[in-house]
Amino acid sequence: MNIALFGAPGAGKGTQSAALVDRKGMKHISTGDLFRYAIKNETPLGLEAKKYIDAGNLVPDAVTIGLVREELKCVGDTGFILDGFPRTVPQAEALEGLLQENGKTLDQVLFLEVPKGQLMSRLTGRRVCKSCGAVNHIDAKPTKIEGVCDICGGESVQRIDDQEETIANRLDVYENSTAPLKSFYKEAGKLVELDGTGPTDEVFERIQEVLDRN
Ligand code: ADP
Ligand code: ZN
Repeated sequence: MNIALFGAPGAGKGTQSAALVDRKGMKHISTGDLFRYAIKNETPLGLEAKKYIDAGNLVPDAVTIGLVREELKCVGDTGFILDGFPRTVPQAEALEGLLQENGKTLDQVLFLEVPKGQLMSRLTGRRVCKSCGAVNHIDAKPTKIEGVCDICGGESVQRIDDQEETIANRLDVYENSTAPLKSFYKEAGKLVELDGTGPTDEVFERIQEVLDRN
């Protein structure tokens, strides 16, 4: 089963992907994580991507598509979760070709629906461990000691693009560039809309239910 998780910034794509990896052993392909990894390692890709990401803009399609092409080359038969890709119609079109190259299909696109009013607080309150990437939230899932990761003791900080001014831009970019993908996948008969609100394990159960139907 190969799926894409789709939804606004803060809809919970990363959190739910992590749960799917844990419980189903699926391969997680997160373009956001791949970019952040490249930035941390100061690779040419990272240096290029950083200027877009910090401003809350999209990394150009050609760069992003090239990155996903490399990742798809090394997926096995465990199934994969695309998280944060595709994010534009041209990316979705390119994905069709990439899948074909690898003899894979995308089975379903799960759209996590969260009202706009909840996204801002989810994102401004998000904290991410600099060392292990664990995600917390200052109200919903605080670390035991403020600023310190429970798992590895690393520094738990706010992402640069989770600052309020940048979030507003990311939500606009989402509305303009990514939301149109909803009708793209609806027409393809692959879209499944899910309620992304409430506790994370309840959202996971909704996802599980959809996957079990197949
Ligand atoms: P979120 O879903 O919370 O916005 P991500 O970690 O998925 O966070 O993405 C962070 C940033 O990485 C995006 O704002 C964008 O700049 C860049 N990015 C991630 N995926 C893509 C993509 N498919 N196309 C272009 N840019 C992307
Ligand atoms: Zn950590």
